[in-house]
This record gives sequence, structure tokens and C-alpha cells, in this order.
Amino acid sequence: MGDMPGAREELDRLGRALRAQLVELINDLTPGSDLRLLFLDAPRIVDWHEPLRYQYSTSSFNGERPAHVSAAESVSRAAALLGSAGWEVAISQEGVGGGARPGPRPGSVVIGRRDGCRIEIRVSDHRSIVYFDGRTPAMALYEPEEFQWPEPARTAETVTPGYVLCYECDGLGWCPGCGGRGWVYDKVRGRKNCSVCHRDRVCLICRGAAQLAISLLSPYQRGYYPELG
Ligand SMILES: [Zn+2]
Ligand SMILES: [Zn+2]
Repeated sequence: MGDMPGAREELDRLGRALRAQLVELINDLTPGSDLRLLFLDAPRIVDWHEPLRYQYSTSSFNGERPAHVSAAESVSRAAALLGSAGWEVAISQEGVGGGARPGPRPGSVVIGRRDGCRIEIRVSDHRSIVYFDGRTPAMALYEPEEFQWPEPARTAETVTPGYVLCYECDGLGWCPGCGGRGWVYDKVRGRKNCSVCHRDRVCLICRGAAQLAISLLSPYQRGYYPELG
């Protein structure tokens, strides 16, 4: 895979800046939170269409606001911190999800946007819990590469005496459905598991050997080889 020049450095820079901003917000709004639970260590693939897109993101970090700080104070403090750090800030009253009970509860969401990054801070009106979400833009890091269908493991010239080329893969050895990738292109999701091998990658009949011993063929399998009589 060919690197896209500078893309990984840029995404890493955005990931570090996002983390630093989240740490500042968490320490200020919910002091004493366990920052070891803030996972932002490696970008994940979030779009499997070519070229694949990578993103740093948190999975809903939460902390507790101090007892003497009201929800409204937390919201304005979050907005002020983001604004002073150059984030474009919006506040919505759409309610706060998360926790055991489904559905939104009364609360506010502070949304910050900067350099394609997004931070959301959800402050519940009636509970002390504060949720933090952050993500960088989803970026392509590698040039898409045309898949090279593998060379067959066996051909009519290299098949072992006493064997025939596998009728399923015709000597390929790899799964004939996906060429050994374990996945195939999918319009909607970008990629999906190969329905022929279910990610085994090798041909299910010859298990990768690409050839079958004539003496072990079942009557059904012999039907694929009329030349055997
Ligand atoms: Zn095969
Ligand atoms: Zn396959």
C-alpha cells in the first residue's frame, strides 16, 4: 500500500490535539476522573470503502461533575474552555443519552468543532454524570491499490502425478470467491466477509492444496472429471 504523503502525520497531530483538549476538559469539568479510560491510542478504520478512512475517536468517556457545580455552570464552562481554545461552539438542548436506561433525558450538549475534529460534552440536568466524546476527521492514509489476483498454486503442468486440479478452485488454492483476501467489495459497507470461504481464505475443497488425489475422490467428485472415466 502506498502512503498518502503527510496524511498519517496530520491525523496523528489531530489525534494528539484532540486528546490534549479532552484531558483539559475532563480535568476541569469532572476532576478526579480516571484518564486511563480515555482511549485514543490508535486510529480505527471507520469507512471500509476505498481508500479506507481512519479516525481517532473516544468511546463515550464519562466523569462526575463536582457536587457544588450546577449543570448550567458545567455547560457554560465547557463552552468557554472550547471557545478560548479556538473551537467553534454550539449548545443544544437535545437531551443526554447513555447509561442503563435508553432514550434521552433532560440535559444539554456542548458541541465543539475545530480542524474537522468534533467534541461533544453531554451534561445531564438531574444527574452528576458528564459524557465526553471526541473524534478526528476520517482520513485516507493509503492510496487504494488494485487487487492482484494470486497466481494458481498448481497448473496442468505442475499437478502431481496421481492428482487432478481441484475442481472448485481450478488449481488456485486460494478461495475462488475472494482470491484469498477473505472479503469482497460491497457497495454499501465497502467490504463484506467472503460468503464462499467465510474468511478462511483458502479453497474449502482442497484446503489450499490446489489438487486432489484421484484415489480419494468420491463418486460425486469424480463426476467433475469425465476424463477419468
Ligand atoms: Zn481448491
Ligand atoms: Zn473467500
